Formats: sequence, C-alpha cells, structure tokens
Amino acid sequence: MPEENAFDNSKKQLENAAEYIEIDDDELRVLKKPKRVVEVNIPIKMDDGSIENFCGYRVLYNDARGPGKGGIRFHPEETLDDVKALSAWMTWKCAVADLPFGGAKGGVVCDPREMSDRELEKLSREYIRRIYKYIGPDQDIPAPDVGTTQQIMGWMLDEYENLVGRHKPGVITSKPIEIGGSPGRSESTGRGVSFMIREAADKLDMDLKDMSLAVQGFGNVGNHLVKSAHEMGMKVVAVTDADGGVYDESGLDYMELKKSMDEKGTVAEAPYDDITNKELLALDVDVLSPAAIENVITEQNADDVKASILAEAANGPVTPRADSILEEKDVFQIPDFLCNAGGVTGSYFEWVQNRYGYRWTLGEFREKLDVKLTKAFNNVYEIHRSKNISMRDAAYSLAVEKVLDAMRLRGEI
Ligand code: GLU
Repeated sequence: MPEENAFDNSKKQLENAAEYIEIDDDELRVLKKPKRVVEVNIPIKMDDGSIENFCGYRVLYNDARGPGKGGIRFHPEETLDDVKALSAWMTWKCAVADLPFGGAKGGVVCDPREMSDRELEKLSREYIRRIYKYIGPDQDIPAPDVGTTQQIMGWMLDEYENLVGRHKPGVITSKPIEIGGSPGRSESTGRGVSFMIREAADKLDMDLKDMSLAVQGFGNVGNHLVKSAHEMGMKVVAVTDADGGVYDESGLDYMELKKSMDEKGTVAEAPYDDITNKELLALDVDVLSPAAIENVITEQNADDVKASILAEAANGPVTPRADSILEEKDVFQIPDFLCNAGGVTGSYFEWVQNRYGYRWTLGEFREKLDVKLTKAFNNVYEIHRSKNISMRDAAYSLAVEKVLDAMRLRGEI
C-alpha cells in the first residue's frame, strides 16, 4: 500500500507512540480525529475575466491546551487529508514546545506561482471572509506555510480587522513588522532547526565546527537554516530546491545561493556542481535536513540515507515505513514537530507581544527562542534515553500526554 496519505501516516505515528503512554482505546479514537473541519468554496474573478472556483479549508484539530494555531498553505495539490495531518502535527508541536496553543491548519488548493498579486490578494481576502468566524486571537491563529508569505498575512489581517471592526494583530502571526510582526519571526523556523542540530551534535559528541550539512529546500526554512548553520561554523555542502541544486564538498557560500535564488528563482544556478534532489538525500554528510515538503524519504530511498543526523525541518518528510528503516540504520532523527517548532514558537512570541502591546528586541527574541527550544529538545531526549524509545515516539509521548491531561482536566474525555 502506498504511504502517500499524510493523515494516515500521522495516525500511524500516533498509534506507534500510544504503546508508550497510558491511553485507552476510546481516548486514542478521539485523538485520531480533528475537532472541527471547515470547507469553503471561493469563486474569484481572475485577471482575464474568467471565474475560478477555489477550495479552501481550515481544520482545528485540538484546542484543549489553548486556541488553535497553525499556518495556511497555498498549494495546487493540497487535500483535506493533508490539512488534517498538518493540523494534528501542529497540535503535537505546540504541546512539545510547551506553548499555550492547540493545533490547526488551513489550506487553499491553488498555484500561487501562476497567479498575479491582484488575484492572490483577492483570494486571500475572500478566504478570510469565509472563515473569519472561526479564527481570532483567542480562538484559532493562522500563520504562513508553504506557498504563503508575509504579504499574504498582511492582506488576511487587514480583511479580518475590517470584518470585526477593530485592530486585532494577534489573530495572525508572521505578519509584516510594520503591522505588528516580530523581528525574528521569519528566521525562527530555520534558526530553530540549527539549535536542534546543535543540541543533537552535543548529545552525540560531535563537534559542530566543520560538520557537513545538506539541505533540501531553500524557502523560508532552508534559507535561514543554511545561514545560521554557517554562523555556527558548519559546512553546508549541498542545497536543492524544486528545480535542482548545487554541491561543493568544500562548502557553499550563502550569498551565492541567495543571489541565485533572488535573480533566477532557484539555487540551481549558483556557480557550483549540479546535484539532484535524489542525490542530495543520499549524500554522505553528517547532517541531512529535508526542509521542503512531506513524504520525501520513503521506504524506497530510506536505505540510501548516509547522514548521522536527520533534522526534519519540513512537516512529515519521513513516512512511517522509512522511519523504521532509518531507526534500524541508527540514524539520529530529530522528528519534524520538534525540529521545526521554532516557527510556531516565534509565532507565540509575536502573539504575546501583540496582546501586550510591546515590542522586544531581536536579541531578546532570539535568546528566548533558544531557551524554549533547547528545553523542548532536552525534554524529548530524556524520554528517548530513559524509556529507550525513538526520538519520534519520545516526542509523541510527551506531546500526547500533555494534550490528554488538558482534555481530561476539562472533562472532555
Ligand atoms: N507553518 C509553520 C509550521 O508548520 C508555522 C505555524 C505557526 O507559526 O502557526 O510550524
């Protein structure tokens, strides 16, 4: 059976972890379903005068620990099951990072690369018009994800505030700084991944200096990961995106990658040897970081992975069957919802500042991010060692127990 369904995969992961926690079958059944699913139809008059019908979703998976939290994805192959899986992972992510949030996710089936700014703005505003009753700073708080930008968050915030008739900057995070965003938020996912790699290296007695790193993806996450890995003294030897990529054993220069991306829309034009995505995943490096999309390491290619540390910067990059293969190969995995928790932790900081009406400095933001993520990593690592279970099962047990506790205390289950 193919393993492409991300929601099935997320349920399988939950089942695996359930073996290590006190949970009965009824509770497990409840945790396998989202609390609320909203599906909307969004007709938009396109620039050429035709009318396109877009399908949009917002899923609130669980809000026992606080308002729902999670990004909105614009992607041509988005499905409701993907959004459900991503909302489940947001639930575990917020719990593992100990943020006072539940989990949610949104998506619109569209190809933002094929749309003009005008069409994108209309779509963003119309999507919010249809879901605004279900979101809010105390209810469910969106943010960007694959295919959405700070500008899109700006339009969405504006539409929401127009509808409710007041300023509510805490309704959406990762906004442009001028309208309530936080300096530090846009780099926080990639930067957070580099903190996770630092902690893993420390536990494995590896010296960060000159450790080699290969990164799949040079979007918001991959870009900042490469930058901060450089700052920490690591050697980034390969980077790819959807159009291909580049490799240099002696290390790639961040500025060259950025220049190629800014000018040509891909890292593949940077002045180094070419490398494919498939080759990148099989490189003999210290750290491999899939920082793009789901299901890139499957049972077909898991055996090719040669890295010592797998830093799962994307959501759901490893399928459950690939997971068992990697476990057997003794690859140290930093599971996705722990590894990329820096993004939502940065969002939490932004939300706190919005409610407080006060702005921290970038230095304060970065320091708080480091403290929070280092603690999350170490909490999971301790369970991994003491119960002798995989890092993924350890992260799940910690997160699921927290969510269960909150649900039990509320009398929900
Ligand atoms: N989309 C990001 C994630 O998957 C950030 C979510 C957020 O900040 O709410 O973690």
